[in-house]
Amino acid sequence: MLPDVLAAADEPRAIDTHAHQPTREFLRDAGGEMMRDAASTFGTELETWDYDEMRAEYREAGVARAVLLGWDAETNTGNPPVPNDHVAEVRDEHPDFFVGFGSVDPLKEDCVEEAERCVEDLDLSGFKFQQIAQGFDPSSPRHRELWNAIESLGVPVIFHGGNSTLGAGSPGGRGLRVKYGNPMLIDDVAAEHPALPILIAHPAFPWEKEQLAICQQKGNVHMDLSGWLPKYIDEQVLHYAGTVLRDKVMFGTDYPMIRPGRWLAQFAAHTDYDEETQRKLLWENAEAFLGL
Ligand SMILES: [Zn+2]
Repeated sequence: MLPDVLAAADEPRAIDTHAHQPTREFLRDAGGEMMRDAASTFGTELETWDYDEMRAEYREAGVARAVLLGWDAETNTGNPPVPNDHVAEVRDEHPDFFVGFGSVDPLKEDCVEEAERCVEDLDLSGFKFQQIAQGFDPSSPRHRELWNAIESLGVPVIFHGGNSTLGAGSPGGRGLRVKYGNPMLIDDVAAEHPALPILIAHPAFPWEKEQLAICQQKGNVHMDLSGWLPKYIDEQVLHYAGTVLRDKVMFGTDYPMIRPGRWLAQFAAHTDYDEETQRKLLWENAEAFLGL
């Protein structure tokens, strides 16, 4: 079952703002043990498949484009990155499908140079940060130079929001700190960098109210619904997505942990947004945010 506006469309339209690689690069190499913890939380296996299969699955689900995210949490986790060059290569093989977002490790000395290389040489469209895996506080003054650089490059950033399933259930959560997922830390970045478009990924459990407040108060902050199947998303988030924040909330999955067909079927079954709102949430807001 597809949402009305996708069932009515004669071609895939939706845009997924949050997709990881269904390949070894993300699931095994960058993910390591903390990814096995996450997979058991989502009840999935760590199978891998290729980008052609991924693309076919999205098309079937009515999704036209996906933001493919890089990953570099090497300093904090010791695991290798999903290289930015890999993201750019995959994007170049499927330029009408993938939007490539790079990742830089804010704890590395060369993070500003790598951010510049991502945009200027690799033509990546933005950056993704996962503060819990990367082990950093985005509001700390030591990262200001990086946010200044990205703001000058004129591209958006996606920050992780809320708790993480990485490391879930293992003793000490594999040393990862949940506090870095608090969206209040992003409010500081948004206030100091008004020209930096920010997307807070996921309903930011347990800080959804803080997230909604920031999205309402900061013109440059947006959010997506990735990482949670719609029936588990906080009621107030779903209410705001259809009212005060209906120009700011976007569809996202967190592929391959959550698959687009399943997410969209639940969205159709558990929400009753009018068609205009569905179009905004499923693609128009993402088109505006990504400049597509
Ligand atoms: Zn993710």
